[in-house]
Amino acid sequence: MAAIEADYLVVGSGAAGMAFADVLLHETDHTMVTVDRHHAPGGHWNDAYPFVRLHQPSATYGV
Ligand SMILES: Cc1cc2nc3c(=O)[nH]c(=O)nc-3n(C[C@H](O)[C@H](O)[C@H](O)COP(=O)(O)OP(=O)(O)OC[C@H]3O[C@@H](n4cnc5c(N)ncnc54)[C@H](O)[C@@H]3O)c2cc1C
Repeated sequence: MAAIEADYLVVGSGAAGMAFADVLLHETDHTMVTVDRHHAPGGHWNDAYPFVRLHQPSATYGV
């Protein structure tokens, strides 16, 4: 198995993990790896609202 090297390991790609990753990407030269037990970003919304997508206007999903 090949090793993966990065400056940061972000555990969780919910709102907090993605916000942290966004700042790292745009404001530093650091590298990162993000992992999550879900198969997609979005945190617990993958479970609570699986029909919601990023950039989808809230009026169209009615939550
Ligand atoms: C039912 C419900 C409805 C909500 N509705 C709204 C709303 O309409 N508007 C709004 O602004 N806020 C809403 N919130 C609040 C908002 O969704 C949360 O405050 C926000 O998602 C929290 O983000 P988080 O990154 O802290 O956690 P999460 O979104 O829970 O993300 C954490 C992630 O970390 C992962 N993780 C945890 N431990 C591990 C591990 N050991 N290994 C791998 N992965 C791991 C989890 O799988 C998850 O994907 C709602 C919350 C709930 C519960």
